[in-house]
Amino acid sequence: MAHAPKADRAYFGAFLDLKGKPGVVVGAGAVAALKAEALLRSGVRLTVVAPQAGARIAELALLGALHLEKKRFQPGDLVGAEIVIGATDDPTVNEAVSIAARALRIPVNVADNAALSTFIMPSVIDRPPLQIAVSTAGTSPVLARKLRTIIEQAVPFGFGRLAALMGRFRSRSKQLEPDPEVRRRIWEDVIDGPIAELVFCGDEAAAAGRLEREFSRNEKAEGFVSLVGAGPGDPELLTLRALRVMQRANVVLYDHLVSPALVDLARRDAERLYVGKEQDNHSLPQREINALMVRLAREGKRVVRLKGGDPFMFGRGGEEIDALAAAGIRFEVVPGITAAAGAAAYAGIPLTHRDHADACVFATGHARKDGAPPALDGLVRPRQTIVIYMGVGALAAIRDRLVAQGLAAATPCALVEKATLPEQRVIVSTLEGITPLAAREGVRPPALLIVGDVVRLCSGARACEQRPVEQREQAEG
Ligand code: SAH
Repeated sequence: MAHAPKADRAYFGAFLDLKGKPGVVVGAGAVAALKAEALLRSGVRLTVVAPQAGARIAELALLGALHLEKKRFQPGDLVGAEIVIGATDDPTVNEAVSIAARALRIPVNVADNAALSTFIMPSVIDRPPLQIAVSTAGTSPVLARKLRTIIEQAVPFGFGRLAALMGRFRSRSKQLEPDPEVRRRIWEDVIDGPIAELVFCGDEAAAAGRLEREFSRNEKAEGFVSLVGAGPGDPELLTLRALRVMQRANVVLYDHLVSPALVDLARRDAERLYVGKEQDNHSLPQREINALMVRLAREGKRVVRLKGGDPFMFGRGGEEIDALAAAGIRFEVVPGITAAAGAAAYAGIPLTHRDHADACVFATGHARKDGAPPALDGLVRPRQTIVIYMGVGALAAIRDRLVAQGLAAATPCALVEKATLPEQRVIVSTLEGITPLAAREGVRPPALLIVGDVVRLCSGARACEQRPVEQREQAEG
């Protein structure tokens, strides 16, 4: 099912407009000075309360940037303030500041003390007017600093100038192009294209001229569909291209194999539609998914059809592109890591190996439409690994088919459940032993069955069963 937001955030992120608003910092040492300067940069009308002032605060007071009250803190000092920071080196004073501010319902931060604070101060990367705030919810200032360094390197200073130019052109763009969807598409092209480059190399006049032209062109956006493989589950296994496409999407259609963490990587304001999969009755039949993609693309949307694993591996991607081509919609396919590759890597089972397997086949174990067991014909060959998708519900039938084709009942087998996810389980046995073992362990889809001598090599790589295969077999017997 589609997921409702979970309250999994420690804080609500927001930027406050404090220009010209009164604020109080209690304390006047080095830490207080840093906080005071941050408030001053946001235009706060600042009062600092402290019996003695450190050098920087004294200097700022002398310059007239803030008002210094040389006195001991009293709760009344906070009356009328809209923001309060406690930064003294005396814990009892800091606590008194927190209590007084909370009584007055004024947002308060106490330096290095989340328990006494009603807000925390993020680490901020400033590219005026652009601001990027990083918070680890107080868990690790070191990590926040590291992230800050990464972002500073990734976001050139020119981004601030680009933001300023876009801000200046905002109302003009609305005059030139009334349709917000079209405007959005143009802006997206602007930030990724030559206009941004012009700003970065300092030619803002040329950039402004080209902006004017872009918004005057007045053509309807052309829709586009990307069939994107989301990989087996771990968001780290998404390709760079998939990520880029998702971050430009207007709408994302996803099915049940795609984890919420992955759907979250789509552009924030992209519409997210759960289309599920066939077997589950909350979801749309394939025919309707195809029609929906066509309709959205005709509206000029950039549609991402996000599918577990790879779109062309048991993913009905072929049918979807047929429907798009028939409707004359432009599309692309972004490959993904298929479940077999993910499961093999995270379970430590190489699918081929010079000593054990020269070939590997991928097959579906899903019962056919008429309810007949899967055919699985021609899969059994010496030195060939067999990977079976969608087989958990038909393990006994699969075993029978493979044994009937001459595969030894003692052939090593592994079931990899929820591969690459934190809940991954690897269950190792033999072709004969795997069916009862899976029943006992309660293995549920999605899971992959890997059959062949390479399974012997599964030896305690991540999340793998620690017991060697031989021992496991004895335990079964
Ligand atoms: N297009 C997908 C496969 C879709 S068919 C791909 O390329 O991976 C659905 C089947 O894929 C499931 O029944 C299961 O056998 C397998 N599968 C998908 N994700 C999986 C995962 N994380 N762990 C184990 N098997 C998975």
